[in-house]
Amino acid sequence: MSHPKTERTLVIIKPDGLQRTLAGEIVRRYERTGLKLTGLKMTVPTKAHVLKHYNLDPNWKRIVGEKSIEAYQKKGLKPPSMDPLVLGDKVIEALQQYLTSGPVIAMVWQGAHAVSIVRKITGGTEPLTSDVGTIRGDFVLDSYQMADTDGRAVRNLIHASGSVTEAENEIAHWFETRELVNYRLVQEQILYDVNLDGLLE
Ligand code: ADP
Repeated sequence: MSHPKTERTLVIIKPDGLQRTLAGEIVRRYERTGLKLTGLKMTVPTKAHVLKHYNLDPNWKRIVGEKSIEAYQKKGLKPPSMDPLVLGDKVIEALQQYLTSGPVIAMVWQGAHAVSIVRKITGGTEPLTSDVGTIRGDFVLDSYQMADTDGRAVRNLIHASGSVTEAENEIAHWFETRELVNYRLVQEQILYDVNLDGLLE
C-alpha cells in the first residue's frame, strides 16, 4: 500500500474565483495546511473537456440531482423537478457554460489525506449552507435557488475531487504526467518524519 502522504487531489479555481481576484487567497488556504503543490496551470477549458470531466464518474449526474433535491427539501422548498436525472442534465449544461466563460487555474495538491483535507477547507457545494471558515462559506453567497431561478450553475469558486479514485482520473484528464513535478518540500520533515532527527544543534 502506498503511504498516505502520496495522496493527490485536483483543485480547479473556477472563472468566478479568478474574476473575484481570490486566486492568491485560495492557494494560501491549501498551502498553509502542509499540502504540496505539484502542478499548476491556467487554461480556458472547452465545453467537451468540461463534459468529459463530469462524465468520468458515471453516477455523477444522478448524485448531483439527488443532492439538489435534498437541499431544497431540507429548506422546506419544492425542487424544480423530482427526477434527479432531469436536474443533472440541466446542471451539466449550465456547468459547461460556467467553466468555459473565462480562464481557470487547475492545480494538483499532494500530501496526507489530500482529498479530504481539501474538501474540508473548500466547504459544501452550496455557498448558502457551506460552513463558515471554509472558502465557499467565507467568500461567496450563491444558492441552488438562485442558480435555478436564473438557469445557471451554482457559482462556488472551486472544484475539488470527491475521492481518491476520482482525483486520479481527474488529474489524468487535466494534466500530462510531464506537467507534474516530483520534489521534496523541506517542511515535509516536520510533517512526516518519524523521529524528527537533526533539529537540535
Ligand atoms: P462539488 O463541486 O461540491 O463536488 P457537485 O459535483 O455535486 O459538487 O456539482 C458540481 C458543480 O455543479 C458544483 O460545484 C456547482 O457549481 C454545480 N451545481 C451542482 N448542483 C447544482 C444545481 N442544482 N444547480 C446548479 N448548479 C449546480
